[in-house]
Amino acid sequence: MAKEWVKIIGSVALGAALLAGSMAQGVPDAGRPSESGASPATGQATGASEAGTAEAPADAAENAPVRVLVADDLSNLALTAPDIPVYDRYTIAERRAAGLPTALPEIAPYREGKVAYLTFDDGPDVQNTSAVLDILRDAGVHATFYVTGRQAQAHPEVLQRIYDEGHAIGNHSYDHRYEKLYPDVNGFLAEMAKTDEIIKGIIGVRPLILRAPGGRILHFTAAYVPALQESGYVEHDWNVSSADAAPNHPIAQDFIDNIAGQTEGEATAHTAIILMHSSEGHEETVKALPEIIRLLQAKGYTFGVITPMTPQPW
Ligand SMILES: [Zn+2]
Repeated sequence: MAKEWVKIIGSVALGAALLAGSMAQGVPDAGRPSESGASPATGQATGASEAGTAEAPADAAENAPVRVLVADDLSNLALTAPDIPVYDRYTIAERRAAGLPTALPEIAPYREGKVAYLTFDDGPDVQNTSAVLDILRDAGVHATFYVTGRQAQAHPEVLQRIYDEGHAIGNHSYDHRYEKLYPDVNGFLAEMAKTDEIIKGIIGVRPLILRAPGGRILHFTAAYVPALQESGYVEHDWNVSSADAAPNHPIAQDFIDNIAGQTEGEATAHTAIILMHSSEGHEETVKALPEIIRLLQAKGYTFGVITPMTPQPW
C-alpha cells in the first residue's frame, strides 16, 4: 500500500539531507536518491551530517512513519507532499548555545491540490486523544495535535503515540493561561520554550509549529510576529471552526454542519485548517470525526499535517 512511499524534501544540491523514511514498492519518484529505503541515503551525496535527514529505520518497516528533521542551517524547508511532519532536533536555547540559526528563512508555502488539515488542540488526554488516534489510524489520515506542556507531561505515552503514528505535534503553551501569554511576547516565548523542553524530553525533537491559545487575532500585538519569526516558530490559526468548544454544549452533528458549511467557499478551496479539540470533555468531537473525514473526502480534500510550509489560513 503506497501510503508511506518515499517523499523527498529539498534537493541534494542544497546538501540538506532530504529523504524521508520507508516506502512501499513501485512508486516512482523522480530524483529519489535511493530505492532501498534502508538508509536515508543522502549522506553519501554530500557528506552532510545526519541533521536534516528524515528517520528511516534500518529494517525499513513499511509502516514506519515518514517525518523530516530540519537541517542544522534550516535550509531544507520545502515540501513535495503535505502530510510529512517536520521537527527540529534542537530547542531554540540549544540552537543559540551551538551558534546555529534560529530565524526561519523565507519559506514557499505548499499550494498544491486541495488539502484539509485536521487540528486537535489542548490534548493529549488518554480517553479522547486516544480515540481520535484510533479513528485516524483506521481512516489512514494524518492530523496535527497542538498540545500543552502540562498535558504532555501528564500523558507522555499518548504524545509518543501521536509522534509514532506519523502525526504532527505543535506547541500550544504550557497551560493555556492567557495572563502568562498576552500581551507580553517574552512571556509567550518563555511558555513556548518550557513546553518545547517537555515535548523534546518525551519524543526527542521539538516542533517548529505552534498555535496561539485562543488564536492570534485577538491576542498578538505587533511585537509577536517578528519575535516568533526570530525564534524559529510558525503560528497557524484556522479558517474552519468546528465550534466544538462553544459554551452551549453543541453536539457532534453541529460540528459536522459547521465544517460542511465553512468548506464551501473560495477561502477554503485549497487550504482548510480545521479547529477541533481532543482534550477531556470532547467526546462529541470523537463522535463526529468519522463523518467529518468522510465529508471532506467527498468534497475532494486530501489530508495534510501542519508544517512551516502550510499556508496561512487567510
Ligand atoms: Zn487551546
